[in-house]
Amino acid sequence: MERIRTMVLPRLPAGVVAAVAAGVAVGLLATVPGGGAEAPPWGAWMVHAVIFGAVLGLLGGGRKQSLGSSLAAGLLLGLADWLFRQLTLSVLVSGAVPKWTLAEAVSTFDELVRTVLLGAVAGPVMYGLVALWHRRAVTGATVPRKPHIVVVGGGFGGVGAARRLDALVARGLQIEITVISESNFLLFTPLLVGVAASTLEPRHVSAPVRAALRYASFLHGRVESVDPDRRELVVAAGSRGRQRVPYDELILAVGRCHDCSICREWRSTR
Ligand SMILES: Cc1cc2nc3c(=O)[nH]c(=O)nc-3n(C[C@H](O)[C@H](O)[C@H](O)COP(=O)(O)OP(=O)(O)OC[C@H]3O[C@@H](n4cnc5c(N)ncnc54)[C@H](O)[C@@H]3O)c2cc1C
Repeated sequence: MERIRTMVLPRLPAGVVAAVAAGVAVGLLATVPGGGAEAPPWGAWMVHAVIFGAVLGLLGGGRKQSLGSSLAAGLLLGLADWLFRQLTLSVLVSGAVPKWTLAEAVSTFDELVRTVLLGAVAGPVMYGLVALWHRRAVTGATVPRKPHIVVVGGGFGGVGAARRLDALVARGLQIEITVISESNFLLFTPLLVGVAASTLEPRHVSAPVRAALRYASFLHGRVESVDPDRRELVVAAGSRGRQRVPYDELILAVGRCHDCSICREWRSTR
């Protein structure tokens, strides 16, 4: 049911509305004095416009269509409509065999101009209606807020936790992850021995924290305080100043610390 709904909405009503509007415009154009064309029989012309719009909407009213492709769809459908309706169906209904001769085509030239014009106007109008519908659907929808998990610390503990969470996001878990660390490099401490022994250069024993993260965002700064009641951190983020970062879940991975301010505040709430 949902599949049928998404196939039909908004393309079918958009196509019909666009073709009816275009049908009225084209019909009125024919009645302009000195236009040199006959006004179509209104009843039959509007029924035709509704069917034309329904077919146009279903075939060319997809979300991914561009203005150009909608115009092309309208023009082509107008041409196909003329070939089928005027040169084939009406000949069959009159009991004759369609011959698709040039003489027959010339005799129905008025109708060709009308249907191609109908498609040329209906296509872009339908494109506008479909775009409007999707924009409304996007802005009108309420997107549920994802839980925000904040990891403090860019060492093995913090980056390891963030990477585990990243993997869950890759599998579809709907969460926001932010890693906050005052150091934006992950130091491979076991390799420090090599640096001390001059077998490794210092720059070869660290890697940017950002490079280890896929979905998690990174905030370079020092967490100054934690407010567990309000679920909020105060972060001194260098040139970006002091920021308040709300969280739903907090992972503190600040390494070995005896009595740093954030752990003290955290402990006081336990
Ligand atoms: C020379 C050496 C060799 C080692 N070799 C080994 C080994 O072979 N095997 C092993 O298992 N372990 C080894 N270790 C120990 C290992 O390095 C640590 O256990 C590990 O680094 C701890 O990781 P962590 O993420 O908990 O803390 P840390 O690595 O200390 O990371 C803490 C992070 O938190 C950040 N941070 C701290 N306070 C704040 C704040 N207020 N706001 C924002 N960010 C903050 C820091 O900038 C840092 O990025 C070694 C350690 C050393 C020194």
